Amino acid sequence: MLTKTPVSLHWFRRDLRLTDNTALHAAQTASTQVIPFYVLSSWKKAHAWTGPNRQHFLCGNLESLAKNLEAIGSRLIIRSGETVSEIERLIRETGATALYTNRDPDPYGQTIETHVIALCNKLGVAFHTCKDAVLHQPQEVLTGNGGPYRVFTPYSKNWLSLPKAQPLSKVRTLGDAPSPKIKSLPLPTVVHWHLPEPTATLPTPGEKAARDRMKTFVDSVRLPRYEETRNFPSVPGTSQLSPDLRYGLISIRELYHRCQQALAQAGGQPAAQSGINTYIKELAWREFYMAVLHFYPEVLETDFNPDLRGVSWHQDPAGLAAWKEGRTGFPLVDAGMRQLLATGWMHNRVRMIVSMFLTKDLHVHWMEGESHFMQLLVDGEIASNNGGWQWSAGTGADAAPWFRIQNPWTQTKRYDPEGKYIKTWVPELKDVPAEMFFAPPTNGLPLAKGYPLPIVDHATERDRTLQRFKVATKR
Ligand SMILES: Cc1cc2nc3c(=O)[nH]c(=O)nc-3n(C[C@H](O)[C@H](O)[C@H](O)COP(=O)(O)OP(=O)(O)OC[C@H]3O[C@@H](n4cnc5c(N)ncnc54)[C@H](O)[C@@H]3O)c2cc1C
Repeated sequence: MLTKTPVSLHWFRRDLRLTDNTALHAAQTASTQVIPFYVLSSWKKAHAWTGPNRQHFLCGNLESLAKNLEAIGSRLIIRSGETVSEIERLIRETGATALYTNRDPDPYGQTIETHVIALCNKLGVAFHTCKDAVLHQPQEVLTGNGGPYRVFTPYSKNWLSLPKAQPLSKVRTLGDAPSPKIKSLPLPTVVHWHLPEPTATLPTPGEKAARDRMKTFVDSVRLPRYEETRNFPSVPGTSQLSPDLRYGLISIRELYHRCQQALAQAGGQPAAQSGINTYIKELAWREFYMAVLHFYPEVLETDFNPDLRGVSWHQDPAGLAAWKEGRTGFPLVDAGMRQLLATGWMHNRVRMIVSMFLTKDLHVHWMEGESHFMQLLVDGEIASNNGGWQWSAGTGADAAPWFRIQNPWTQTKRYDPEGKYIKTWVPELKDVPAEMFFAPPTNGLPLAKGYPLPIVDHATERDRTLQRFKVATKR
C-alpha cells in the first residue's frame, strides 16, 4: 500500500467547488490531511480588467466554498498578498510536503505557477498540477503538422473527436481541519479591493446554485432547443453557465457528460440531437480561444491578423461614452449595453452586435471595448473576450471577414422581431411599435421622449470602415 503524504496543500484558483475537482480529488486520495487555501489578489481600487461585479461574485463563491468545506470538517484558509510569499509562509506554517493545484488557463495564472514551482523545488515540496478547467489543453488539439489551429472549424472537428475524461466524485473529506494556529483572513468583500458594491443584479454565487443552473438547463427543453433559440436574446435560450465555468463552480467534464447523456436519451429525435450537438460544439469555442491565447499571446497587445495591424482607429470619447451608457440611438445596441450594466452579462448575439457597432460604426479600437467588457462581465474571461472582440473587429482568428459588416437595424428585425428584448432593457421604448426598431427614424424625431437620435448613420460608417480596412490591407 502506498504511504500517504501527512499534510498537503490545495491551492484553489478557478476551481471553487468540491465536485469533480481534479487536483482536490488527487490531493485527498494521496494525503492524510489536505489544507485548502485561496490567495486574494492585493491590487487596490482600480484594475483595467476587472471591477466590482466579478469580485463580488468571487466573494460569494468563496463564502459558499468555505461553508462547503466546513460541512466536510475542513476550513478554508484565506490569505492575501504576493502569492509566492504567501504560499511559502503556508508551507512553513503547516509543514506540508505537497502542493496541489489545477492549471490556470490564463497567462497570468501560468506565470505565477512557474514561480510557485521554483519555490516548491527550493523547499523540497512536491508540486502537482492537474488539467481541470478544460476538456483539452491547447497542446492536445493540434493540426496534422503538429501546429496550432488558426480557424475554429477544423479545431472543433479535432476537439470533438478526442476522447474526454469522465467526471470524478465529490470530495467528502479532507482529513482533520487545519489547526487553529493556521490563521485565515476573514472572508473578503469588495472592500478588500477598495471597490464599491456592485449595482448590477448578479447570479446567485456558489457551487450549489451553479449546479442547479446546470441541471435546469440540461434537463429542460432548453438544451434540445438550443439551436432554435440561442440567437434570440429575448428568450432564455442559452445556458447562461459562462460565469459558473469562469469560476469553476461546475466542471466542464460534468457538463459535457450530462450533455452526452441527454444526447443518448434524445435517440430518434433528430432536431433535439442537433440542438444538443450544437451546444456541445459551442463549448469548444471556449477552449479554441484559450488555445489561441496560449499559442499567440501577442493577441492581448495587437491584432491576431498581421495584415490588419495598420488599420486606423478613431478616438471618439463622446461616442464611446454613449455606447457604454446605452444611449447610441440604436435600440438593440442600447438594450445590450444596458443589460450588461444591469446584470454583468449580455446575450452572445448582442455581444456580437454591440462590439461590431463600436468597431465598425464608431471606428473605436476593439481594445476599448475589450477592457470595458472585462470590467463589467461576471463571466469575463481573458481568452474568450479577446477572441470575441477580435472576431467582431475583423482582426482575429476565425474573424468575421472585415468586409462583412452587420447592419444593427436588420439584425434587430431578424433577432428581436417583436422588440421584446429592446423593451425589457430600454423601458422608454416600451410603447414604440417594434417595426420602428428596424430602420433609423426618417422623420428626424427620436423614437421616444428622452431617447437619443442615432448618433451615426450606419450606411456612411460602413463605407468608412471598408475604406479604412482597404487602405490597411494595401499597405
Ligand atoms: C465581444 C465578445 C466578448 C465576449 N466575452 C466573453 C467573456 O469574457 N467570457 C465568456 O465566457 N464568453 C465571452 N464571449 C462569448 C459568449 O458571448 C459567451 O460565452 C456567452 O454569451 C455566454 O453565455 P452562455 O453561457 O449562455 O452561452 P451558451 O450559448 O450557453 O454557450 C455555452 C458555453 O460555451 C462557451 N461559449 C459559447 N460561445 C462562445 C464564444 N463565442 N467564445 C467563447 N466561449 C463560448 C461559453 O463557455 C458558454 O458558457 C464573448 C463574445 C463576444 C462576441
